[in-house]
Amino acid sequence: MSALVWFRRDLRVNDHPALSAALQAHDDIVPVFCLDDRLLHGRHASGPRTQFLLQSLADLAASLRARGSGLVVCHGPPERELVALARAVEARAVHFSADVSPFARSRGERVRAAFGAGGPELVAHPGLNAIDDVGGLKTQAGGPYTVFSPFHRAWEKAPRRDLLRAPDELPALPRSAKVGVVPALAELGLTQEVDEPPPGGESAGRACLGRFLAAAVDDYGAGRDVPARHGTSGLSPYLHLGCVSAGEVESSLGPAADPQAFRRQLCWRDFYHHVLFHFPGNATSEFQQRYRGKISWSRAHGLFAAWCDGLTGYPLVDAGMRQLRREGWMHNRVRMVVGSFLTKDLGIDWRWGERHFMRLLVDGDQASNNGNWQWIASVGTDPQPVYRRILSPTRQMATHDPDGAYVRRYVPELKRVPDAHLSEPWTMSAETQREAGCVIGVDYPAPIVNHAQARQQALERYRVV
Ligand SMILES: Cc1cc2nc3c(=O)[nH]c(=O)nc-3n(C[C@H](O)[C@H](O)[C@H](O)COP(=O)(O)OP(=O)(O)OC[C@H]3O[C@@H](n4cnc5c(N)ncnc54)[C@H](O)[C@@H]3O)c2cc1C
Repeated sequence: MSALVWFRRDLRVNDHPALSAALQAHDDIVPVFCLDDRLLHGRHASGPRTQFLLQSLADLAASLRARGSGLVVCHGPPERELVALARAVEARAVHFSADVSPFARSRGERVRAAFGAGGPELVAHPGLNAIDDVGGLKTQAGGPYTVFSPFHRAWEKAPRRDLLRAPDELPALPRSAKVGVVPALAELGLTQEVDEPPPGGESAGRACLGRFLAAAVDDYGAGRDVPARHGTSGLSPYLHLGCVSAGEVESSLGPAADPQAFRRQLCWRDFYHHVLFHFPGNATSEFQQRYRGKISWSRAHGLFAAWCDGLTGYPLVDAGMRQLRREGWMHNRVRMVVGSFLTKDLGIDWRWGERHFMRLLVDGDQASNNGNWQWIASVGTDPQPVYRRILSPTRQMATHDPDGAYVRRYVPELKRVPDAHLSEPWTMSAETQREAGCVIGVDYPAPIVNHAQARQQALERYRVV
């Protein structure tokens, strides 16, 4: 009896419950991935993230080949491709890792319907999150969580399953399975928009985890908010595509000085997956009903373009937006600062920021991106008064990048600006500007808004509710 193992965003062989279960229950297994145009060219299309995906598929295919099997790569909707493949190899079951996003869930249902009664059995497995049943945690009242702290307490107590070793050997693919090839990005009609993306794949993900455990994890609590340091794990793209399992990451922390601070971040990921699972409507509208359609967001395209291009005149905001363009990734603290700047200082709809992030982020994850954008726009779960989430871009820089090492790395025009003026370069005298080779309005923009005034306007904007 044979079974398909339908890979989606679980592109690894280590700690893979669906792969292990299929191997136990069936003599032959056929690993398969479907390139689906509805995702590749949909609302959250992304050249950088697709490039990361293609590298991850190539790495997975190599791992499977090394174990005697291979990866069947199809191009088309899984409800068509999986049905054809299952028929060709006479599969009796399809094993896959359960997902939380509305699209993934409805796609799974379409596959189930396409197989119909009497077709192969569809078997969902855990593996996406640090805990197995992320949607199943319930408040005392029996409902889903909408506030992080109580979710965190319940998450801490949730059981963890034992990790699964990668199989040493796999059965060979049946002759009737056509392997296909991992295409190049251009063949999919997409372009790589970032210059220095991280490499995709389980091998790269495991190396990234190894580096973090060897160097930064002990100092994570102190280093995680300093964007100039490589104080965070950099694991987000690998977690997003499942190149490393969140369970393995959590269990490998060992006796680090402050593993709690790091585990808490893994819990934020699971929290937003829990939220999207229970509130799929969040994908398009505010979680807080009172704000839906009520805030008059600005449609200032010029200001939005300045934000996207890292030309706002606020060094920390500009450094973050240029890091995104260069690496397809941005430090968490700076994501918060640029998110606050877009939604509060510029008064632009959080959905515009969410979309731009999804275009460029290699870790772009619908649940985490949407949850964090709603959080920083003060319209989502885990609510706080609006003023608490209006971040001053200059004070944030003074606190988190006091010597300007991060800003100078990404905004070369500011390299020679003296420390005393770096967070507010427009305060330099004309002479200092000439000496620093940074004339405001010529080499680097004057601030596109006045933060103090913009803050007042933001409070007014939210007060309408
Ligand atoms: C506006 C905005 C948008 C964001 N969009 C995304 C996104 O699309 N995808 C994404 O993975 N993260 C997103 N984040 C969360 C966070 O910025 C990234 O997860 C983090 O910067 C990734 O770097 P790291 O792997 O070094 O993180 P670490 O600090 O090493 O954390 C370890 C892991 O915990 C998870 N994590 C950490 N912080 C958060 C958080 N606030 N929310 C959810 N999970 C978290 C990530 O999976 C991360 O890899 C966003 C944050 C903001 C403010």
